[in-house]
Amino acid sequence: MPAEVLQQAASEMLDWQGCGMSVMEMSHRGQEFGRILEAAEADLRELLAVPANFRILFMQGGGLAENAIVPMNLSRGQAVDFVVTGSWSQKSLKEARRYAQTQVAASNEADGHTRLPAPATWRLNAGASYVHLCTNETINGIEVHDLPDLKALGSNAPLVIDFSSHVASRPVDWSRVGLAFGGAQKNLGPAGLTLVVVREDLLGHALPICPSAFDYKTVADNRSMYNTPPTYAIYMAGLTFQWLKQQTEGDRIGVAAMEARNVAKAALLYDYIDGSQFYENKVARDCRSRMNVPFFLRDESRNEAFLSGAKAAGLLQLKGHKSVGGMRASLYNAMPLEGVQALVGYMRQFEKTQA
Ligand code: PMP
Repeated sequence: MPAEVLQQAASEMLDWQGCGMSVMEMSHRGQEFGRILEAAEADLRELLAVPANFRILFMQGGGLAENAIVPMNLSRGQAVDFVVTGSWSQKSLKEARRYAQTQVAASNEADGHTRLPAPATWRLNAGASYVHLCTNETINGIEVHDLPDLKALGSNAPLVIDFSSHVASRPVDWSRVGLAFGGAQKNLGPAGLTLVVVREDLLGHALPICPSAFDYKTVADNRSMYNTPPTYAIYMAGLTFQWLKQQTEGDRIGVAAMEARNVAKAALLYDYIDGSQFYENKVARDCRSRMNVPFFLRDESRNEAFLSGAKAAGLLQLKGHKSVGGMRASLYNAMPLEGVQALVGYMRQFEKTQA
């Protein structure tokens, strides 16, 4: 979370803009929360340049719930194409199998999830109801830098992207997307809020088993208030959207500014790792994530010393995911360039002390 956002939330924790209540105490149907929700939605639409024929839904259940909610809403009893690029898309595939017939159009499992299968090699099915793609594999550190043009690949199916871990880190080409979903807790706000951006023509096709609260049309028709929404998380995300709108890098503003900053942050770390004999990143260069950088000490017996030294230097949460091991640096939007400089400085110094 950006420090400014946390400070603002702290300053209006007990009394939001003189109304005498905390946001947590407001009725979600009251005027005050109505203003918060409306502003959050409008700001997000502006930030991500979401076209008018897409609806923005604030939901709950996180990315994992969407793994079930998407097939329940979009599969229409037809098959679903999956592009497996890492742990999260694999999880999505497994869950979708409970609700739809699934087909793996491409997988990088044989490469240990270290490179992206080229779109031209995807075996897409003409009759698929949608194609699932995770555009940033948080655990494996793989990012899809250019969204595929499915039409050019011979598929008329809408593209569904899981952008949980890089949402708002760069602009989105909505002409290539039918639906995007993501948990808020990386770049948008605290956990508890799930963002869904869906093209209007995809609404209204939910399977009969789909719970009403998870039917996108019901959620859209009720402006994300079919049931009580996660009001405080929406408020915090709204503050983050305002913060994002104010960010500049040269003549870029908002998400374009974040992209420039994220490119610079990631380049600093990858360049250092690539130039070192001590550390290593195994992901192909053309699909390396700007948000999540998994890296390894070539001598893994030094892992514990690396982590405890990092902690002492104030560099936290660097331990890699248990399924991959090693280290992982997450460079989400709120991480400033100085944070990455501090990490690289520590890595350089640690390497020296181990010589
Ligand atoms: N997809 C991706 C890409 C993720 O990074 C995560 C969480 N780290 C999830 C899905 C699961 O999200 P949640 O924990 O919000 O259900």
